[in-house]
Amino acid sequence: MIFRMNDVRILVVEDEPSLAEVVCLYLKRAGFQVQVAADGKQAMAILEKQIPDFVILDLMLPEIDGLSLTRWLRDRSNVPIIMVTARREEIDRIAGLEMGADDYVVKPFSPQELVSRVRAVLRRTGREQTGAESERDLSLGDIHISPVSRTVTVRESQIELTAKEFDLLYLLARHPRQVFTREQLLERVWGGAEYIDPGTVTVHVRRLREKIERDPSSPVRLLTVWGVGYKFEP
Ligand code: CA
Repeated sequence: MIFRMNDVRILVVEDEPSLAEVVCLYLKRAGFQVQVAADGKQAMAILEKQIPDFVILDLMLPEIDGLSLTRWLRDRSNVPIIMVTARREEIDRIAGLEMGADDYVVKPFSPQELVSRVRAVLRRTGREQTGAESERDLSLGDIHISPVSRTVTVRESQIELTAKEFDLLYLLARHPRQVFTREQLLERVWGGAEYIDPGTVTVHVRRLREKIERDPSSPVRLLTVWGVGYKFEP
């Protein structure tokens, strides 16, 4: 699996407290970070501050309904959405998918099934594409990365990176200590390995080391894991 569950933040929008509670429990048990909103208005207030990595949205909500919320959210973000509906809302359910939900579950559903659906949508959409994920600032020791301005400061001074160098550094830094193979990096930074020389990754890692490491010949941040790939040490 290419994403790590413990840094996926899910907003559950559900007005039935007992259902919200059980969904929350299962998601947390699966390793996700979970926040709950009890109605559409509350959800909007949360979403205005920060878009999470995933939204589970009940269709029938007080204040602002699920469809309006989906439409509102889609104007701002491509965050994955799973819509929760009751059977009688069949027609709305289809409208929900057209409106931009990624999947739906019908009440009553098993919480375990919902967790599986979340994982499936995450796999399908790839976490890299979610709005919130690509906009989170990172501070790791003496390195600060700002994805909005695509700038990197190392020991207080801003460094110049090419687009791919930035993407590579940001991907590795966002998953500290997680080892990525060259193939995974080609796939996720260059969008596919077929036409690109695998040596490209090696070259980019070397250039990044020259820019961020105190001593590029004995790196302490961008580490080679022999026979496997690379990782970022925070
Ligand atoms: Ca409801």
